Amino acid sequence: MARFHLEQHQDSVHVETVFNAERLQELCQSWQTLDFIAVDTEFDRTNTYFHRLALIQIYDGEEVYLIDPLAFDDISALTDIFKTTSVVKAFHSCSEDLEALYHQYGFELNQVFDTQIAASLDGIGLSVGYGSIVEHFLSLVLDKEHTKTDWLQRPLSQEQKVYAAQDVQYLLPVYYRLRDSLLEKGLFECVIEDVNSIFSAIIQADDYSEAYLKVKGAFRLNQFQLNRLQKLAQWRETLARDNNIPKTFVFRDHHLIEVCQKEKTTISDLLSMGCNRGSIRKYGAELIRQIELADQVSKTEWPEPLQPFHKIPQSKKMFSALKAEVENVSQEHNIPAEALCNRRLIEYYIKMTLGYKGRPNRFWNSWRQSLLEQPFKQAMQEFL
Ligand SMILES: [Zn+2]
Repeated sequence: MARFHLEQHQDSVHVETVFNAERLQELCQSWQTLDFIAVDTEFDRTNTYFHRLALIQIYDGEEVYLIDPLAFDDISALTDIFKTTSVVKAFHSCSEDLEALYHQYGFELNQVFDTQIAASLDGIGLSVGYGSIVEHFLSLVLDKEHTKTDWLQRPLSQEQKVYAAQDVQYLLPVYYRLRDSLLEKGLFECVIEDVNSIFSAIIQADDYSEAYLKVKGAFRLNQFQLNRLQKLAQWRETLARDNNIPKTFVFRDHHLIEVCQKEKTTISDLLSMGCNRGSIRKYGAELIRQIELADQVSKTEWPEPLQPFHKIPQSKKMFSALKAEVENVSQEHNIPAEALCNRRLIEYYIKMTLGYKGRPNRFWNSWRQSLLEQPFKQAMQEFL
C-alpha cells in the first residue's frame, strides 16, 4: 500500500463504512505494513458510567474507514494494530477515546501520538482543539462542533459521516507536521510517553479507595469527616459502575461533602439539602448506612488529612523556587514551560516531597523526571 505523503494529501478521500469482521480483518492486515494511521472514535456517555462506543474512524492516508461497532460485535481484529509498537496511532486529545476502547473492548494501545499534547510541546498552545490545530497547519476552517449529535442513532446521517471522516482525514497531515517538528527537537518520544502515562492511569483507575481525593472540596474536611468521605466515594463509584450510571446520578460531590460534615443525617435532611428525589428513594437509606459503617472505623485507620497547597508553610517560596527551575530547563531545552511542568505538577512534586497526601499526577513520568528531578531536589534543599 502506498505510504502517506503530505504532498499527496487530498481534500476529497473515499470513505468506506466497515460492517463486518472479515473486511475489518483484511484492513487490519494491510495497516500492519504502515508507519502510522490516524484514529478517532465517537461515543456516548450522557447517561452511563462507561462510554458507549458508536464509531471508530481510521484514515490510512488513502481512504477513510468508518468502523461501525453497532453493526457487528466482533471488532477484535483491531487488537494487534492497536497494540503493535511498529505502527504509530495518531489521535487528537485521546484520553476518552482510550478509555472507551479499553473499557468496552479491552483494547490495549501502544505508540499513540496525541496531536494535542504534541501541539503543547511544540509551542502552539495548551489544550488546542482539533478545529484550531487543523486551521493552524492547513489553513482550513472546519464546521463547528458536532459533539451534540447522537452517534448511536442508525443509520448515521450523511452529515455525521462527513464529520466523522473529517476527524481523521486532517489528523494525518497534522500528525505529519508535528512529528517532523518534534523529531527535530528530540521530543517525539515525550508525546508517546505522556500517552502511556494516561493509559496506565486508565488501567489503574479501578482502585476506588482513592476516589475521595477527586471529590471537590475534600480538603475542607477533618480526618473524621474525611474517613466518611473515603467510604462514601468508594461506595458511590462502585454503585455507579455496577449500574452503569454516572456518579452524579447517585449523589453529587457537594452533597457528599455536606453529609460528611453533618453530625447525623436523615432522609429528610437529604430532601432539604436538595438531593435528587429519585436518588434518595433508591440510595438514601444505603448512604446513611454507609456513614454509620464508616463511623465504626477506628481512628488509626482514618486517612491522612488533606492539606490545601497554599496552607503548607513556605508554599509560595517553594513554588517560586521550582518555577524558576522550570523556566531554566524550558529555555535550555526549548520546551514551553507550561507543557514541561504546569502549576499542578509543581504543587504535586512539593507535596510528594514533603509527604503530604494528594491526587496522583501521572505526568511526573520519566522524561520529566530526567529533566527536572535534579534541579528540583536541589531547589528544595533549603526548605527541608
Ligand atoms: Zn470525532
